[in-house]
Amino acid sequence: MKYIFHLSIFSLLFLACKGEASQQVQTESNPEQNPPNIIVIVADDAGYADFGFMGCKDLETPNIDNLANNGTIFTDAHVTASVCAPSRAGLLTGKYQQRFGFEANGTGYGGSGDIGLSDDVVTMADVFKAHKYKTIALGKWHLGGTETDHPNERGFDEFYGFIGGGRSYFPIKNPSYEHMLQQNGKQVVFDGYLTDVLGDRSVAFVEENKNQPFFMYLAYNAVHTPLEAKESDLEKYKDAPRQYLAAMTWSLDENIGKLLKKLEQSGILDNTLIFFMSDNGGAHNNQSSNGILKGWKGNEFEGGHRVPFIVSWPSKIKGNQTFNGLASSLDIFTTSLAAAGIKKDGTLELDGVNLLPYLTHEKTGNPHDKLFWRKLEESAARVGDYKLVRLENFGSTLYNLSNDIGETKNLSQTDSLDYNRLQNEFNRWESKMIDPLWGEEKPWMDVTYYIHKQLMQNKEVLYKAPPDKDDQQ
Ligand code: CA
Repeated sequence: MKYIFHLSIFSLLFLACKGEASQQVQTESNPEQNPPNIIVIVADDAGYADFGFMGCKDLETPNIDNLANNGTIFTDAHVTASVCAPSRAGLLTGKYQQRFGFEANGTGYGGSGDIGLSDDVVTMADVFKAHKYKTIALGKWHLGGTETDHPNERGFDEFYGFIGGGRSYFPIKNPSYEHMLQQNGKQVVFDGYLTDVLGDRSVAFVEENKNQPFFMYLAYNAVHTPLEAKESDLEKYKDAPRQYLAAMTWSLDENIGKLLKKLEQSGILDNTLIFFMSDNGGAHNNQSSNGILKGWKGNEFEGGHRVPFIVSWPSKIKGNQTFNGLASSLDIFTTSLAAAGIKKDGTLELDGVNLLPYLTHEKTGNPHDKLFWRKLEESAARVGDYKLVRLENFGSTLYNLSNDIGETKNLSQTDSLDYNRLQNEFNRWESKMIDPLWGEEKPWMDVTYYIHKQLMQNKEVLYKAPPDKDDQQ
């Protein structure tokens, strides 16, 4: 990333030690005898209600539903941002991305712009690599395009994907660096459909590494725009109300199915900890649905950040469970460390919680009693059942999600006690964060502001993208 001038002297000292990530995290004295493989599967812009296991009827996801049946379905799990890049920054570092200024999506339009992961931030891949895991990132990166942002520099032994925020699912003639499919920096020329290509590589990677622990970050760009699907899948869904999304989702599911089958055939499915989630809420421009939730990708309402979320580890976690506790994508890092028996060094600050005791019923209740969101002018706080949505220079609204999951009844005037409590909680959290290191283009800032203002007043949203922009955020 380019914002070196923002780094403090402490950061610079830390940078001098870069390359010694293995020293930041010490192996616990009693590591797991048989450490599990870790797989994090991320769908892009998929709606809260758009999978069979979440009750969807018109899209078909038999393989992901099977994963859900063999694991635990979360109903109240959240990502840390309602857009792609900062959400991934939080996921892969296990801490609020606002701690290191990665707050906005950059310039948008599918490119990574000037965004980048601070050089002094440790990723999940850094830690697992230091503990002899083989690490691979597949698919969309979107965490910066400079040399030091490259996945190979951020703990991944292998990167098989593309650097930017989106691209065509089909081959591109003379692609830019950000859009080209690459393997460790070298362009890969492919035929066919990208979702299949990523799925095939995930299967091949398992074949190559089935005899050693591995960490796979499998970030499909499905079902982000552009809406492109294979002819055969479009034909299969020719009468479907959401034809393109159904076809793209089917391909995503098919490829996750290939991976699960390969793990099973290799005899390692039982000892593989798998997370499945969407990186943010369903978008307004890809036919997705967030069901009963208000808002969509880019909003601080539930539809922006509450996501479908599965945790599966057959040898340790009983299947067929639903978990309603408050959880976060931040928990993936912490949970994975615990599963692998890796004890983190005190210098590694993580905001997540180990979910395993909740899934094995050693603990009950909520992994988190509060969660926070902030993207430039919009922010939100969740404390218990209460949710505060804030808009700079406009005001805040308060909801009680236990009886108003759709966030329509603003309690800010009638419940001043909870209103003030949540404002204070938010301020306390915000005091620990730093200012964003980059913003977003003004037309997008303006439209995001307008959308929030309308939704906070339960008013109709008349436009969802700047009128003169290609709507491919
Ligand atoms: Ca996304």
